[in-house]
Amino acid sequence: MALSGLDIFKLLPKTNCKKCGRPTCIAFAMQLAQKKANIEECPFVSEEAKAALAGASAPPIRKVTLGGDGRTFAVGEETVLFRHEGKFFNPAGIAVTLDDTLDAAARKGRLDAIGKLSFIRVGLPIQVDMIAVRNLSGKAEPFAAAAREAAAATKLAIALVSDSPENMKAAVAACASRAPLIHAATPANFAAMTAIAKEHRCPIVAKAADLEALSALTPQIKAAGVEDILIDLTMADLRSTVEALTVARRAALKKNFRPLGYPALVFALRADPFDEIAVAGSAIAKYAGVVVTSCAEPWQILPMLTVRQNIYTDPQKPIQVEAKLYAIREPGKDSPVMFTTNFSLTYYSVEGEVEASRVPAWIIAVDTEGTSVLTAYSGDKLNEKVVAKALKDTKAEEIVRHRKLIIPGHIAVLSGKLEEATGWEILVGPKEASMLPAFLKTVWPQHAPKS
Ligand code: SF4
Repeated sequence: MALSGLDIFKLLPKTNCKKCGRPTCIAFAMQLAQKKANIEECPFVSEEAKAALAGASAPPIRKVTLGGDGRTFAVGEETVLFRHEGKFFNPAGIAVTLDDTLDAAARKGRLDAIGKLSFIRVGLPIQVDMIAVRNLSGKAEPFAAAAREAAAATKLAIALVSDSPENMKAAVAACASRAPLIHAATPANFAAMTAIAKEHRCPIVAKAADLEALSALTPQIKAAGVEDILIDLTMADLRSTVEALTVARRAALKKNFRPLGYPALVFALRADPFDEIAVAGSAIAKYAGVVVTSCAEPWQILPMLTVRQNIYTDPQKPIQVEAKLYAIREPGKDSPVMFTTNFSLTYYSVEGEVEASRVPAWIIAVDTEGTSVLTAYSGDKLNEKVVAKALKDTKAEEIVRHRKLIIPGHIAVLSGKLEEATGWEILVGPKEASMLPAFLKTVWPQHAPKS
């Protein structure tokens, strides 16, 4: 837990000599607490005080970067229990399994499929992060071969899953440049596993029967020279897993309990893919740093990535699109014009439905500071003046030759004021974006300018 200014002050020389550029030691201490000063600016602070300050200023949950010469991603370094207290920083990595019991052709097919698991949602790219190679064969050779193939086929980070140090050694050597995540160091094998991690500078996952045993294991791994540690919090069922995730997070954040101050890894594996998606989503929402799944179909992965994107969005800053006029399917001067807000989720819902309708159209994304239609309307960020300004700013009048504006059905009540403020004829569109295709194909033609 971070030290207060007064705690830091107690560690300083208290001579008020001003050599640090501050008038007093207490002023310097306050700036240190706010991370606006560096302890090295005081030439008289003792080595013991420096060590104490360094330990106290370390994040309660360690940040660990996964991946090597390919794609990397960071997990951990979270500071709050609940998203509304601030925000979550490093999105949970999604790792898809590759079993070494598959034959070479099946492994290639699965790696090809995993490599394609990337999507665009609300205008942002989302994709899986890692391949978890599992040593189900119990043999070194196929495990190393699968690791080598995973490294060659994609740029994704790699996790290697085996309890055998011998097999792990062979697999790590096969993809060492990717700094694979070693799973797992257990109380029985941690010395050998940690030695491999240390030699190849790999992060490692600690795994034990319960939180108590895990709390005893991580300091031993650290003492053996590996600091980039994850903790496996997969328990017998989802309830126990979420409980363990919550207890570990709370202990790290509220009690500054260092042995559990590491990102968590959870295996979401279930026989039923729908169960697996639900377990993965729950683990993502409740603090997992890495979630391992056997799901490799786009329809299975997309819900997990969607949950992750939503959970790791800053609640104070809604995702926005640029407020401007968007052309969908090469619209012309007689094409329909509609508006919505610049909240990404709202805009892309509308854009997706207009695309699906195959009716070329213009969409004005009105600047409502990234809020949805009803939120913006109730907060007076979406009114006749705002819409009139958007029409003017986007030069819509010069781009089309008609004066018909389709408005969201939820703000039909604004029709009269909008007509007065803009001079455009108002057509009340549907309340739900999903009804836009039908509207554009059946209602709009009745109002479209006659050529
Ligand atoms: Fe205090 Fe050190 Fe600053 Fe001098 S240099 S005022 S001892 S904090």
